Amino acid sequence: MLNRRQFIQIGAGTAGVAALSGASTNWWGLDKNPLHDPGTEGEKIIPTFCELCFWKCGVLAHVKDGRVTKLKGNPAHPLSLGKLCPRGVGGTGLLYDPDRLKTPLIRRQSKRGEQLFEEATWEEALDLMANKMGQVREKYGPEAIALFSHGFGGAWFSHFFKAIGTPNISAPSYAQCRGPREVGYYLTYGQGCGSPENIDIENARCITLIGSHLGENMHNTQVQEFADAMANGAQLVVVDPRFSTAAGKARYWLPIKPGTDIALLLAWMHVIIIEKRYDIDYIDKHAAGFTELREHIADKTPEWAHVLTGIRPELIRETARFISSFKPASLIHPGRRTTWYGDDTQRARAMAILAALLGSWGRRGGYLNTSKLDVPGFPYTTSYPEHRPQVDRPKPSLYPLADEVLASGVCDATIPGTSSYDIKAWVVYGTNLIQCLPNPRQTKKAIQELDFIASIDVLPSEICGWSDVVLPESTYLERCDEVWTPDYKVPFLAVRQPVVEPMYNSKPGWWIAKELAKRSGLEDYFPWKDSVEYAKFRVTAAGYDCDELQRTGVIVGQGAPTCEEEGLALSFSTDSGKIDLYSKPLAALGFDPLPQYTPPDEAPAGMFRLLFGRAPVHTFGRTVNNRFLSLITNDNEVWVNAKVARDLTGVGILKTGDRVVLINQDGVRSEPIAAKVTERIRGDCVYMIHGYGHSAKGLRFARGRGASDSELVTQYKVDPIMGGTGMNVNFVRIERATQADEAGATRVREGAA
Ligand code: SF4
Repeated sequence: MLNRRQFIQIGAGTAGVAALSGASTNWWGLDKNPLHDPGTEGEKIIPTFCELCFWKCGVLAHVKDGRVTKLKGNPAHPLSLGKLCPRGVGGTGLLYDPDRLKTPLIRRQSKRGEQLFEEATWEEALDLMANKMGQVREKYGPEAIALFSHGFGGAWFSHFFKAIGTPNISAPSYAQCRGPREVGYYLTYGQGCGSPENIDIENARCITLIGSHLGENMHNTQVQEFADAMANGAQLVVVDPRFSTAAGKARYWLPIKPGTDIALLLAWMHVIIIEKRYDIDYIDKHAAGFTELREHIADKTPEWAHVLTGIRPELIRETARFISSFKPASLIHPGRRTTWYGDDTQRARAMAILAALLGSWGRRGGYLNTSKLDVPGFPYTTSYPEHRPQVDRPKPSLYPLADEVLASGVCDATIPGTSSYDIKAWVVYGTNLIQCLPNPRQTKKAIQELDFIASIDVLPSEICGWSDVVLPESTYLERCDEVWTPDYKVPFLAVRQPVVEPMYNSKPGWWIAKELAKRSGLEDYFPWKDSVEYAKFRVTAAGYDCDELQRTGVIVGQGAPTCEEEGLALSFSTDSGKIDLYSKPLAALGFDPLPQYTPPDEAPAGMFRLLFGRAPVHTFGRTVNNRFLSLITNDNEVWVNAKVARDLTGVGILKTGDRVVLINQDGVRSEPIAAKVTERIRGDCVYMIHGYGHSAKGLRFARGRGASDSELVTQYKVDPIMGGTGMNVNFVRIERATQADEAGATRVREGAA
């Protein structure tokens, strides 16, 4: 096992595995060392920002002889604070991945999914793509074309798709991840938590994690603040069926029965309200619906919740008192992937209401007010064509509070006859839909119904194998993108500038979108020469210095007060103008105005609930092919409770390292995977890290490693409020892996299957 230091050395030392032609292009027109750190002789240090995940930390790329030798955190950047997470350090593993898409590919004679392509020129591939999209536009209307995207570069394609005239522009990060949380907090406070979240971990005196795996979920800034807070004596309460890494640091670990979190939250509220441990002045001043809430929780006693959650009543009381004793600097972490059981908006509401009782919204150590720098847009037309309504819900009345397009709904609408009109073409940017949408079989079935599908990506993931045209995008280290001005507690403006020339025959996303627009008769929507001109215009129009931005990678502005302690006057854009403990908008739509507990389905006999999560060195399945990161974690395993493992029906005594397969309620059989027998998980569930079990032939390192949780997620429960797909509703039984299972995995590893 490598330690972090050794890993960083390896990451730096092996970065130059592929040769580059020429020195890096200085797109911003300066030719001087941009930062004070001179680096080693002949080395340039170029600031940019990371895209190994969506967090977008500031990076200082060390470049010598046209090769990136090291990636470090930019000390001036509010999200990196001088450090990168292990994935960010290992970004060169993506840049120099020998399996990168190197040139456009076209599927000619083969069937979709066979992963057989012919190399093509950009002209050929773009012409074909524009023609196919044009045919779909003409035959079915522009709305029949859908975009799925993930990542910062998706903005170029969103603009292009709006120009085409389709509303079906979706990102799985909404209905498969943060959507329920955003809607739940929006209903309560009039705004969501945003990304990066508006939470003050740094100053929290008590942090409560409810199914959130901070530390395994590696959001760099949050993890740094978390470490600082813990070092400064912050207390931690972890609610999780699994003894996570964070639980190891916690004062309390509550191994809750999966699916019963709302019951615990209501019981905590019961104790806090009945014992008058809430922030009475804050609630009196800022909240509406307290009387209804008090009535609602009157019978939600710890004894009531005990039967449901499996947590002792005394422990529920004790933790409620403990959490409230630190108010208002008692932070209920809102989590990130919140699509669990289909009642997820209501769970987010319960968390938001608990936070209100603690008086932590708008208070130091709780949820902060954020602000962003005012950067004018590029003066191109944003007058987009009229279009038919989006197609992601079979009836307009469904999921009334969804405020983004549902990726899973667009996928479903591709099956003919299921919605008001059919989707006939997909363009997939930077997201491996086969792994991130629930029920991959449904996704593949939908793909077979398409007239055309194209993927734009850096690596040949599974979705590329199902595409007709595959376009190789340059990595984040090779391209200039849109400037970034997020809402954050410290407002800032960051720039992504290329640190080396694009490798192979790859192209940046902005160029691909512009070329497609040109071929589609929509060039007026892209009136700039390149993304540098575009970005420079915006920076200059905002009154900032482009040279300065190039040197530092980031300009940090003066923020508004973030909390009452700094003079913030709290205001809420809700129905009542206050914190809506009781939600009239939900009531008006026929939903519970206060969170109700609904029992989860019980596991069938001999089966276990399938839970999944993250590894700190990987981002979903996107980084599993990264050889540097895989020096630390190169496989997944399935956690099985030790007591269960002693007598597993039909399996006998299971030991750590034994090879097993998981078979879900629909008979889907996983790839073989090693068991991890542990006391650190409840006996009614199993757990595995998401993103393994790749089958894409082009991912020569990742293919055949571990098992895919995604393939086992054949069922999901849709959140009736906003359409999120609760995916923790699948059950598996465990069998020992057979020789045939192992032989199948070997064939995938060898690229023969
Ligand atoms: S959290 Fe890590 S992977 Fe994500 S942007 Fe920051 S450094 Fe990159």
